[in-house]
Amino acid sequence: MSRPQALCGYCGKPGRSKEHHWGRWSRKLIPHRNPYALHKLSGVNKEGNAYSSSKKRPGDMRDQSIKMPCRACNMGWMKAVNEAAEPVLARFSAGDWYEINDEEKRALAAWATMFTMTYEYIDHATIAASQYERDYVRENAIPPENWYVMIALYDVGYWTDATLHSGLWVTPPEYDPSLAPMNTQITTSTFGKLLFHTFSTRADFDMNVGEYAFRLGLQTVWPLNGTRIRKPDRPHTDAEAHLIAYGLKETLSGIGSADL
Ligand SMILES: [Zn+2]
Repeated sequence: MSRPQALCGYCGKPGRSKEHHWGRWSRKLIPHRNPYALHKLSGVNKEGNAYSSSKKRPGDMRDQSIKMPCRACNMGWMKAVNEAAEPVLARFSAGDWYEINDEEKRALAAWATMFTMTYEYIDHATIAASQYERDYVRENAIPPENWYVMIALYDVGYWTDATLHSGLWVTPPEYDPSLAPMNTQITTSTFGKLLFHTFSTRADFDMNVGEYAFRLGLQTVWPLNGTRIRKPDRPHTDAEAHLIAYGLKETLSGIGSADL
């Protein structure tokens, strides 16, 4: 008996192709050069137990693929999201910041959201986006309303080509694995000199996201809030990038059931 075909994580149809989650298109913006890629994944399960894994794969991160979307998604709406974000990514990845308009913010935010939703399939236990959220970005090419996308200028260092994705279960609500194994995720990654940070949750808690972004020197791309993107005076250091990647996870684990 042959195994049933795995379903596309986005449209649910059978058949997955290998998605180069950075897309081959990124090669023309940033040459592929790193001898390895660092992937970090961590989660907090419903009992509050923390676990983490670190995968160091040979080759450049942008050469690596994740078997998750089908070919039709990959070549259709995902390609369109990549192409819409490409002009902004080309300049921001080179440290050439400019004042982007709302349309460009939407494109950048949709791209970072799609990256996150695809990336979390590396370790299924850390998946926090629900099918509804994946459908939303697929159908609308904008992030769902419970998503935040923030950016910072980064130069070169430890976080170059590294990604940290953390899936957490934050209470309330009670554990309901039917939507996704986790209900909250935090992802930090870089694309050239652009550091991007996505945060999404289906949990019910109060958090001042504006204050959070300000404290970490992040600028909010999504949701649209009328603020202007300005080029920072200096790039974030590794220590600052580290705080961005781990800070919220520590805050949230204090709110929820987790004790990291
Ligand atoms: Zn599909």
